[in-house]
Amino acid sequence: MTGGPVASRAAAGFTRRYAQPPAGLWAAPGRVNLIGEHTDYNDGFVLPFALPQSTVVAAGPLPGADAGEARWTVWSEQSGEQISFGAAEVAEPRRVTGWGAYVAGVVWALREAGLPVPPARLAVASDVPLGAGLSSSAALESAVLTALVDLFGLDLPVTDRPRLAQRAENHYVGAPTGIMDQSASVRCRAEHALFLDCRSLETEHIPFDLGAAGLAVLVVDSRAPHRHVSGEYADRRSACESAAERLGVPALRDVTADDLDAALGRLDDPVVRRRVRHVVTENARVLETVDLLRAGRLAETGPLLTASHASMRDDFEITVPEVDTAVEAALHAGAYGARMTGGGFGGCVLALVEAAAADAVGDAVRTAYAERGFTAPECFTVLPGPGAHRLS
Ligand code: ADP
Ligand code: MG
Repeated sequence: MTGGPVASRAAAGFTRRYAQPPAGLWAAPGRVNLIGEHTDYNDGFVLPFALPQSTVVAAGPLPGADAGEARWTVWSEQSGEQISFGAAEVAEPRRVTGWGAYVAGVVWALREAGLPVPPARLAVASDVPLGAGLSSSAALESAVLTALVDLFGLDLPVTDRPRLAQRAENHYVGAPTGIMDQSASVRCRAEHALFLDCRSLETEHIPFDLGAAGLAVLVVDSRAPHRHVSGEYADRRSACESAAERLGVPALRDVTADDLDAALGRLDDPVVRRRVRHVVTENARVLETVDLLRAGRLAETGPLLTASHASMRDDFEITVPEVDTAVEAALHAGAYGARMTGGGFGGCVLALVEAAAADAVGDAVRTAYAERGFTAPECFTVLPGPGAHRLS
């Protein structure tokens, strides 16, 4: 079986559960965002790349089922559960809750798009850490979507898939996320980062061949307890939206770095000014990072990553002691740059390092954690992997 141990586990799970082999296997990766945080819902720029870790869906049609008894059954290795839902549950959002909502949401969104899904059986396995900010949710949605579209020959161009998966998460699951995660999981390419304009949804694959440059990205799962994440997210989002309104622009994306001082002069709340400054400077940093990568100057992006972290810490105020500690320790141990990645209040840190130095940087982070009495972090290096695809 191609696709490594995760694919083997998904296939074996399918065969064990349903007493026949799957019709096929499809994989979709988790992601890290190299730079561009909280810019997505401001119509701005992001630059994620796909992790080598992915979610694999083994799938097959439900034999003998007719359209009147539409039913979908899903087993997940991570939850250890098998769930089942029918036509009534995919007729309206939120009828299925818990992890099954990410799967039912995709079936719902496909139906809403005029693409009814025949009854099917699925088995899911994954090595994307759940709830760590590496987008296991989008990996699950994208893997299910790719599997169903391919299995049943549904007419849904790749460019339309991220929006559909996002609709599943926003409307069916009820999580107000931007378009980045699903775009990354569906559209990324190995050895590239995905430059995404969250307004036009135009994408460009930017060469990011860390391996060839002798570099690696060290990912540190901060293991920080999530604190009030959804309330804080909603608060940042509404601050940005009301600031844009105040400034008379459709979104903060429309304020450029050159306009920043004038824009700040028109806002009287110091907190809102800081939020705006983060978004505007972060968009500029994404564009500068893209220029450096296009020129093959990978290591020189380090200071931009570190500046992004400072902006999230001081202006957007979304970091926590664990991630600040990880960033400082990584920089002290020689990383070219380091930043928190993801929505904030925990989640992961990434550090751009010489591949040969990755272990030493990870050790330095662990030591700094131990000195402060934090729960030990999880550290691993990654190279940019492929987006969603069929395995077999
Ligand atoms: P993140 O996307 O950062 O990992 P989220 O909270 O957005 O965090 O999504 C995590 C949720 O996605 C899990 O709590 C679970 O409900 C669901 N999920 C993701 N992957 C799987 C999987 N392989 N099996 C079951 N549920 C999963
Ligand atoms: Mg998620």
